[in-house]
Amino acid sequence: MPDAVNRQWILVSRPTAALTESCFELRESPVPQPGEGEALVRNLYLSFDPTQRGWMTMDTYVPIIPLGEVMRAGSVAQVVESRHPDYAPGDLLMGGFGWQDYALTDGTGILGVRKLPPGVPPNLALSLFGITGLTAYFGVMDLGQPKAGETFVVSGAAGATGSVAGMIAKIQGCRVVGIAGGPEKCRWLTEQAGFDAAIDYKSEKIGERLSAECPDGIDVFFDNVGGEALDEVLARINQGARVVLCGAISRYEEAELPPGPKNYFNLVLKRGRMEGFIVLDYADRFPEAIEKLAGWLGEGRVRQQEDVQEGLENAPRTLMRLFRGENFGKQLLKVADPS
Ligand code: NAP
Repeated sequence: MPDAVNRQWILVSRPTAALTESCFELRESPVPQPGEGEALVRNLYLSFDPTQRGWMTMDTYVPIIPLGEVMRAGSVAQVVESRHPDYAPGDLLMGGFGWQDYALTDGTGILGVRKLPPGVPPNLALSLFGITGLTAYFGVMDLGQPKAGETFVVSGAAGATGSVAGMIAKIQGCRVVGIAGGPEKCRWLTEQAGFDAAIDYKSEKIGERLSAECPDGIDVFFDNVGGEALDEVLARINQGARVVLCGAISRYEEAELPPGPKNYFNLVLKRGRMEGFIVLDYADRFPEAIEKLAGWLGEGRVRQQEDVQEGLENAPRTLMRLFRGENFGKQLLKVADPS
């Protein structure tokens, strides 16, 4: 084993408001040896997801991360040594191997463990074909059900999930309007990502701009953010509108939760539907989604902007980027090259 130590980021305290590096401690331990039925894997890329902030503070759709344990994260890792019948050295696995250089796996875990399909690069496995791309696919196609000619609005539009959701809605023939933070992200949405319009929530009045960009009202809203954007959209929905509750990042770091949307009663008047979902519930349909996304990728109709930081030592700072809007597309951290 060329590396004598396994660096591990341990969760040592729980955030009460904005995330700080002091929630984590970098420790070193010996590289573990696989027992019978186990494989030793080395992390190559870690995935960063806003939901990790929730895992640190409460039971959600997965149990809270216990204090003193390695910070949980989805990742792609390479098998180094194996005493597991299904894994051989060199295999690439996707799983929840956490913020550390090395991990042991018996092929099970909270986030599951699966082999990467041949030819799929590790970064793509965590971005377009990973949780965010799959979330965009099922949120748009199953819950949003957009039809050609409809107006589709998405918040968090320049992010990993939001950008792909908007591109999928465009393929369905919608007018697509994105809400994102800052002129650079908004320019990227209209000039590179194929959106019809973009609203900079940091410098523009969301309501006024929605009225201007959605003159026929809003049929589908894919919400990643919550808060003001959700309320302003609810004021402008059409008959039978679908509001897809994917996430609400504007409240993840709030110690005191803000009041609910005041315009929700429009759902009654307009016979609208507002529905949340967790993408893991669609696990048995992931192959269907990956096939579709791969087809659109090949045709150049969908692509994933990636933001790749480097070095395990930067893991806490990389997670914080999501909450400061510093990431531009899917947030990844490269930990090692495949051998
Ligand atoms: P992302 O959008 O790539 O990154 C997060 C983005 O959120 C930031 O770049 C920032 O963009 C925006 N943001 C941060 N704080 C904000 C605030 N206070 N107000 C408005 N915008 C803010 O992350 P992602 O992984 O694709 O996740 C997007 C959303 O999808 C999250 O809410 C996440 O929880 C949700 N999600 C849900 C599921 C599910 O199964 N339901 C699965 C995956 C993700 P700006 O620069 O534009 O502000």
